Amino acid sequence: MTWDAVVIGAGPNGLVAANRLLDAGWSVLVLEAQHEVGGAVRSDREVHPDFVTDTFSAFYPLAAISSTIASFGLESHGLVWRHAPSVLGHPLPDGSWAVLHRDREMTATGLDAHQSGDGDAWLEMCSQWDRVGPHLVGSLLTPFPPVRHGAGMLAALRHVGGLDFVKTMLTPAGEMTRKRFGGEAARVLIAGNAAHADIPLEAPGSGLLGMLLAMLGQTVGFPVPEGGAGELTQAMARRFRAGGGEIRTSAEVTRIEVEGRRATGVRTADGEQHPVRRAVIADVVATALYGQLLDPAAVPSSVRTAMRSFELDPGTVKVDWALDGPIPWTGAPELAPGTVHVADSVADMTLAMSQVQAGAIPAAPFMLSGQMTSSDPARSPAGTESFWAYTHVPQRTSSDAGDGSIRGTWDTDDCERFADRMQARLERLAPGFGTKVLARRVLGPHQMQARNANLVGGALNGGTAQLHQQLVFRPLPGLGRAETPIRGLFLGSASAHPGGGVHGACGDNAARAALWHARAGRLLPSVARGALGR
Ligand SMILES: Cc1cc2nc3c(=O)[nH]c(=O)nc-3n(C[C@H](O)[C@H](O)[C@H](O)COP(=O)(O)OP(=O)(O)OC[C@H]3O[C@@H](n4cnc5c(N)ncnc54)[C@H](O)[C@@H]3O)c2cc1C
Repeated sequence: MTWDAVVIGAGPNGLVAANRLLDAGWSVLVLEAQHEVGGAVRSDREVHPDFVTDTFSAFYPLAAISSTIASFGLESHGLVWRHAPSVLGHPLPDGSWAVLHRDREMTATGLDAHQSGDGDAWLEMCSQWDRVGPHLVGSLLTPFPPVRHGAGMLAALRHVGGLDFVKTMLTPAGEMTRKRFGGEAARVLIAGNAAHADIPLEAPGSGLLGMLLAMLGQTVGFPVPEGGAGELTQAMARRFRAGGGEIRTSAEVTRIEVEGRRATGVRTADGEQHPVRRAVIADVVATALYGQLLDPAAVPSSVRTAMRSFELDPGTVKVDWALDGPIPWTGAPELAPGTVHVADSVADMTLAMSQVQAGAIPAAPFMLSGQMTSSDPARSPAGTESFWAYTHVPQRTSSDAGDGSIRGTWDTDDCERFADRMQARLERLAPGFGTKVLARRVLGPHQMQARNANLVGGALNGGTAQLHQQLVFRPLPGLGRAETPIRGLFLGSASAHPGGGVHGACGDNAARAALWHARAGRLLPSVARGALGR
């Protein structure tokens, strides 16, 4: 059968693209290499049969604000959102906690108790966000340049200090939080959110990300799907199938067929061919698209050269625990946070991130962690906790900044030793943590990539989120949209603008570009012509 479109990969972006094209009346086939759909939005019961574990991602503020995902009405396909009693907690060395609540007044009251005046400073930041936030989010989640939301943003900026506010957003998180807040509690809330991507806390872009995620925590929260992360992508797949779309799992695409600079179909590892009439959407990492799936002869030499400087984000080690009781945190907040950040201070986070950038395995890793049963009681038996923590490690290791025992080969021994280092950090904040452990699983960079080929060396964002590879530079300068130099082939993964996170914008942009080109009957995308200097 000849399909209107084939989507390679059933991650959230692939499934968004597939649904969008199906809604436009196209016949669509999704081919997924793994045995199940979901990409980095999946859950499993491997750690313990009574515990649901989110295999990779867990909290979805970006899905909650995504108009694309909202437009699919996934609640009618079984998706139920749940919220933890509080959004985010950050334990400090003195046993106190910085806590982000969905209610900004509660957040501010808590911060004021840490440092008088920080509550008001927090509320001022919130009211500035009220003006610019919606335009900023709209600008980020639509193709670049964001004409409509950009105009709204310009108008809103006048009310929040104009260029001064732009400067604040461009100020690195470390400096921005030092300027705005007197106490460490408010600072770690922003800096910890900034550290969700690999932008150094002393580099521009980190302040904006920190503010964005912290403010979203207060407007939409950090919701989780009831029953496990996988329920989000399962709902997308159910909607797609209900509309007549077809998904084949255990179907790895090994080649995109190109004739006369046009994508004509794909071939899978078992030799099957799937011809397409209109488009191939690639929910694959850019390095695989240009380096493996296309015949080198089909890739313009300028693109092959530019891809040599494509930069991955750092690797990741994730540890999942099944715990037989709540985590015995010192000074645990009354309202349990879903997300918990682990670092002594902004300086501690900055050090850990700079060690990773410099190729060193961090001595005291900055950890993001999730109390999933506190967020959604359906994850494990009452009174227990399904818990995870992850941290970043270098793509190429030159040294171990800790006790020197970890080589960076990420074999089982390396992974277990590093997981012990992570667990020791938790034990310090929650004495007795180890006695609660029923089971533990460690996923190092290789295990991650084996479960999802897009997570190259454990890179979770499809390429660095630093400014030099964002916007018009993502994935390559001049190819900052979903179009590729091959007609009918569109990049719809997190390697495309606006990058990592579960918002579906990369997939939506790719589907909309495919629809637009099909309608316009265009031969070669102008953006690609420009990039290739033709
Ligand atoms: C450990 C971890 C934690 C994260 N935490 C969060 C979080 O809490 N919140 C958040 O918003 N984001 C989080 N992220 C990021 C987020 O999950 C990703 O940005 C998002 O999943 C990207 O979606 P995608 O569709 O582009 O790619 P993926 O989700 O990676 O999906 C790509 C799919 O394509 C398939 N594929 C690849 N190559 C082929 C091929 N040749 N043939 C067929 N199929 C192929 C893969 O098997 C995979 O299923 C996290 C990521 C990781 C790894």
